[in-house]
Amino acid sequence: MKKQFKAESKKLLDLMINSIYSNKEIFLREMISNASDAIDKLYYRSLTDKKINLKKEDFYIRIDIDKENRKLIISDNGCGMNESELEVNLGTIAKSGTQAFREENKDKHQDIDIIGQFGVGFYSAFMVSDKIDVVTKAYGEKQAYHWSSTGVDGYTIEKCDKEDYGTIITLSIKDDESMNEFLESYRIQGIIKKYSDYIRYPIQMEIEHQHKKEDSEKIETHKELTTINSMIPLWKKNKKEVTDDDYGHFYQEKFYDYEKPLHVIHSHAEGLSSYHALMYIPSHAPYDYYTKEYEKGLALYANGVMIMEKCSDLLPDYFSFVKGLVDSEDLSLNISREMLQQDKTLHTIAKSIEKKIKSELENLLKEDKKKYLEFFKAFGMQLKFGVYNRFGMDKDELKDLILFYSNEKKELITLKEYVENKKDGQDKIYYAVGETIDKIDLLPQVELVKDKGFDLLYLTDYVDEFVLQTLGQYENMSFVNIASESFNLDSEEEKKKLEEENEANKELFDKMKTFIDVNGIRLTHRLKNHPVCLSNEGSLSVGMEKVLNNMPTDEKVKAQTVLEINANHPIAKTLKDLYQKDLEKLEEYTKLLYNQARLIEGLSIDNPVEFSSMICELMSK
Ligand code: ADP
Repeated sequence: MKKQFKAESKKLLDLMINSIYSNKEIFLREMISNASDAIDKLYYRSLTDKKINLKKEDFYIRIDIDKENRKLIISDNGCGMNESELEVNLGTIAKSGTQAFREENKDKHQDIDIIGQFGVGFYSAFMVSDKIDVVTKAYGEKQAYHWSSTGVDGYTIEKCDKEDYGTIITLSIKDDESMNEFLESYRIQGIIKKYSDYIRYPIQMEIEHQHKKEDSEKIETHKELTTINSMIPLWKKNKKEVTDDDYGHFYQEKFYDYEKPLHVIHSHAEGLSSYHALMYIPSHAPYDYYTKEYEKGLALYANGVMIMEKCSDLLPDYFSFVKGLVDSEDLSLNISREMLQQDKTLHTIAKSIEKKIKSELENLLKEDKKKYLEFFKAFGMQLKFGVYNRFGMDKDELKDLILFYSNEKKELITLKEYVENKKDGQDKIYYAVGETIDKIDLLPQVELVKDKGFDLLYLTDYVDEFVLQTLGQYENMSFVNIASESFNLDSEEEKKKLEEENEANKELFDKMKTFIDVNGIRLTHRLKNHPVCLSNEGSLSVGMEKVLNNMPTDEKVKAQTVLEINANHPIAKTLKDLYQKDLEKLEEYTKLLYNQARLIEGLSIDNPVEFSSMICELMSK
């Protein structure tokens, strides 16, 4: 009976059958990688289950070419599939990476890219074949099955005979001249070398060897089963022997990314713990990266055998974006997940890996800022979370890896750069908070800092201010929000003068305070042209109030706000006069000024209708 493919698979299948993609050769990489996975599964079982007595040397992948009948045959003695596995695995495509790609590119037509950059597994064989037959027998079972499909109109599954466990896939190569290359031995060997050299099991082919017969001039040819691949896993190879393309292919296939990695970390450690690690920094955040669904971790291998696909203990949360694997000879194969968590060797490896990632990032920042900026755009947020998570325990690890926008440089800089660039006598790191750089540029307090020649950091991510508060200080310079009361650039003399002036107008301000909801009102020297601004007392800033009140809890917080009036602005005198002559108008003006200050800070105003009618009234006077 013919069965239909699941809808999702059908679409992909269709794509493969009608593919115009020029790099069709990658289908073989997919077949071989599946065979290798199947062997991995069985080999791993044999190591953990005493009843299965198999050695690594027993395993192979084999490729045969039957040119006459246009068949390419890929066999392996891996775990094989039983009937239901066949049904599920080859009737539906559920490759997580493919789905992720589709999520991210719903509206784009980048199907070609999926095929090329990242492979689509089993179905890619339909790019070169018009019929696929899979004969397979699961290890330990008696019955073998035959799956067959010509693509579009579904597939059949029937019982069949097969002596040994494992899988034989027969591709009927399309009857098209352009496909002939896939029936040429040298071509197939080339493709294996190119994409599958590192596969840990032998990929064997019958190859013609020529040799001269003794005491005769005649050259004889005979076929010999030959291993085509070097079988050295990529991560155990010498860095010099591995090309960027090798690293890239491996990454895209293994970690289901359709883009090349941004950075490769290939390291080999010996000593306290010895391991090989091959790690990647993706060039973009996976679509689920900033969600709970995202699982961090590196694949863990014990002496070449994968024992865990995602070992989360190998990566701290703040480096959760790193993908890759670690292979160590010091780990036991039979270790359980629970035991692994307490394993001393694993801890040592994790520490060493963390150090390595950190130093790689530092180097990248130093040597290739452009690339680092790209990295930071994708994962900077995670580093910032890292600073203030766990009560700031990791802040020292991360403080030199985070960047903020500098008003002076007009680009992202480190805190170190800020400090190196400080003015004589400057002992604070100034920052301003706002939704965007443009909006911060408009903040009234910004002018004064610029005038004094100090650089100013613009904080636009909602975590930024929490990050600085967690850091507390950097190289003995404390952080000052220019919207807070602690921001003061006056000399002692000026400060004293302002204090006196504020004291003299105390009654006026007390009166004004009865009209609006603030903790204080005072004159300020912090403004150049603007009449008013809102500042805050204490450690909770207006920006943080906004963030915290957006959190899904009932507890609302309130920053202690102060309305500051530019002492040098004519409005200061107007207010003083009104206090003597017209209290009604004083109330109106106070409310207007307060609401203006709120708007400038990006806060909403309580009564916009009243505000706008007051302005209209003023206009019509
Ligand atoms: P992926 O390998 O990414 O899971 P594929 O489409 O390549 O996706 O393969 C689908 C599934 O079919 C595999 O996950 C595996 O379970 C099964 N499969 C494919 N080839 C083999 C094989 N040679 N031996 C055993 N199982 C296989």
